[in-house]
Amino acid sequence: MKLGASPVPKVEQKNIAIIAHDQKKRILATWVFNNQDKLKHHKIFSTATTGGIIHEECLQLDIEVTKSGPLGGDQQIGAMIAEEGIDLLIFFTDPLSPHPHDVDVKALSRLAVVYDVPMACSGATADLIAASGYLD
Ligand code: PGA
Repeated sequence: MKLGASPVPKVEQKNIAIIAHDQKKRILATWVFNNQDKLKHHKIFSTATTGGIIHEECLQLDIEVTKSGPLGGDQQIGAMIAEEGIDLLIFFTDPLSPHPHDVDVKALSRLAVVYDVPMACSGATADLIAASGYLD
């Protein structure tokens, strides 16, 4: 390092799972757009439909998609949590609509608690996590 040059701190890459139910997808897309400068340093895993919307919103993000949630995508993310491969779960759930894959939603939330993975189910908590320095 040259004298006088300030070291650039390197961001430790995290694996972040991002999912939203249909009525919450727009809200999530806005949250991702507003936080893309933090998210771009990390690897994003997303269920198929959510991932497609995020990709349209923020082309710079590195997103790997699973199957759609109702077709097993939530379970795929849950398996990654069980393998201790997810550091943060952003899961904007819709408590006002019925979901055919409700058991999968419950299982995913449960595994996040079992493995003590930070989980945000709404914008307020996601904002707090983004402001906490966890993504920096
Ligand atoms: P989707 O799945 O992103 O494929 O819509 C989300 C879900 O409903 O779990």
